[in-house]
Order: sequence, then C-alpha cells, then structure tokens
Amino acid sequence: MTTNRSFSFELFPPKTEKGFENLKTAVNQLNALNPEFFSVTYGAGGSTQDRTFASVDWLREQQIETAPHLSCIGSSREEILQILDRYHEQKIRRLVALRGDLPSGAGLGSLGELNYANELVEMIKERYGDHFYIEVAAYPEFHPQANSAKADLKNFKRKVEAGADGAITQYFYNPDAYFCFVEECSDMGIDIPIVPGIMPITNYVQLARFSDACGAEIPRWVRRRLESFGDDLEGIRAFGAEVVTELCRRLLDGGAPGLHFYTMNQATPTLKIWNNLGL
Ligand code: FAD
Repeated sequence: MTTNRSFSFELFPPKTEKGFENLKTAVNQLNALNPEFFSVTYGAGGSTQDRTFASVDWLREQQIETAPHLSCIGSSREEILQILDRYHEQKIRRLVALRGDLPSGAGLGSLGELNYANELVEMIKERYGDHFYIEVAAYPEFHPQANSAKADLKNFKRKVEAGADGAITQYFYNPDAYFCFVEECSDMGIDIPIVPGIMPITNYVQLARFSDACGAEIPRWVRRRLESFGDDLEGIRAFGAEVVTELCRRLLDGGAPGLHFYTMNQATPTLKIWNNLGL
C-alpha cells in the first residue's frame, strides 16, 4: 500500500461449489491490489456459520489477512465464545462485530443473550483483551430501526466505549451524509477511524430493494438515471461506476481514512472503480 489509508474488501460465504470458485477467482484478482484485509460476512443466528468458516479458512490458507464478521443476535453467549475461541486459536487478529438481523418471522425466543453490538464488543474485550482489532458498523444515514438520529449516534458511541477500534459504514451515495456523521462523531469525542462502505452499482432492481430494507438512500437523480437504462446492464454498470468513482474520489479527497468495498464476490465492478481512481 502506498498510502496509510486502509482499503479492504468484503465477501459473503457462498452456498455452492461454483460460488466458492467465483469467490476464489475474485479474491485472487483483488488481492493483487494489496488490500489491508478481506472480511467475510456471517448470517445472524449462525445461519452461515460453516460456510463462513470455510471461506475464512481458505483465505487464511492463502496467507491473506482476514476479518470474519460475527453477529450476536439469535445466539447464546456460549455459542459465540466457541466461535471466538476458534478464531483466537487460528490467530485471527481482526473481527467485524455486529448485532445482525434475524430473518423476518423469527420469534422473540430466538433473540439470544446479547441484544446489541455494544454487548458483543464488551464480551470480546472482556475475554480477549486487545487480541482482536474490532470493527463495528456505522450508519451515516442512520440505522432504520433507530428511534432518532441522536439516539443512533449515542448507540454508536456505546460501541466505541465498549472498545471498538474502528468502524465501517453502511453504504451510501451521498458523501455529505458521511462527512456530517464523522463531524458529529468527532464532536462527541469519538476518534476511531470510520471507513466508508462502498457498494458498486451493478443491478438496479436488486440495489433498490436492498437499499429500501437497510435504510440507504439512492439519490433521486441516480435512481431516475438507473431506471432509464431498463434491461441494459452494461449501461447501468458504466453509469454506476462513474457515480461510485466520483463518490470515492470525494470521500478520499475529504479525508476518509480508506474504503471498504462490498464486492458481492465479484472483482470486476470494484476493479473498475479502483482503476478509475488511479489508486
Ligand atoms: P447495533 O449497533 O446493535 O444497533 C442496532 C439498532 O439498535 C440501532 O438502531 C441502534 O440505534 C440500536 N441500539 C444499539 N445499541 C443499543 C442499546 N444498547 N440500547 C438500545 N438501542 C440500541 N449483518 C449480518 O447479519 N451479518 C453480517 O456479516 C453483517 N455485516 C455488516 C457489515 C457492515 C459494515 C454493516 C454496516 C452492516 C452489516 N450487517 C451484517 C448488518 C447489521 O447486522 C444490521 O444493520 C443490524 O440491523 C444492526 O447491526 P449493528 O451491529 O449495527 O447493531
């Protein structure tokens, strides 16, 4: 890495052999960019546990710095500690600690013992001290379930006070939301690096559905332009790469401490943005 900014790539644990082959291809291409780490998501309640382990193990075999995600909702303390012991034994040094989302329809009985991510961070710190570098999630456009923007900021601060070392944001397309969030955090005495999460645009319908669910705003002008491409996927990707490149440029120029790409296990959209940025 030629700068001290942190660039990292997120993967999801594939369900099929073919998906796993795709992941390997994407990692081989993206690893050539010399990222800080790859992270691997984890389904709440342990729904992807074995698949997350398989992806993490493969990355570790390639000597790649790996940050497993771990979500606490729907699991007991004991179950979570077992996973943490495994990662500790494997000498994994980074984690992304989350609450997670239970699938709709899951009953209250399946909530588990830890209700919020700050409790998970606290538990990790208590048991392992400073062994793990812990990243938590941040929401420049606020978490969809938050009572208010102010309450969400306070809750973010709880995670930092519990011992989070860094944060990765939910994706967004409006850089002002990020800069405003970072400024408010700084006013509250939060001084950990807050790395923007970047979602390349490859498929409008999927992105719109996902954004509605997670509370990420697609600006109206971007939505309208994307809609106008209809089934023209190439057009969507080319326009999407332009928009996201400009977003990244503004974030880095404005002092963002790095970028975390939600790769969706595809190298090409991220590589395109990376090359546009001349990183
Ligand atoms: P929390 O920080 O616990 O916040 C959840 C909500 O509760 C917020 O509205 C907050 O304001 C409120 N809250 C927080 N603490 C308290 C408190 N002590 N008292 C009262 N209210 C509180 N999901 C997965 O299932 N697997 C993944 O691998 C995964 N990876 C992600 C990676 C990133 C970078 C991001 C941004 C999100 C990821 N998610 C993942 C999604 C995430 O799990 C959801 O957004 C989830 O709804 C919230 O998780 P959190 O860790 O931010 O929760």
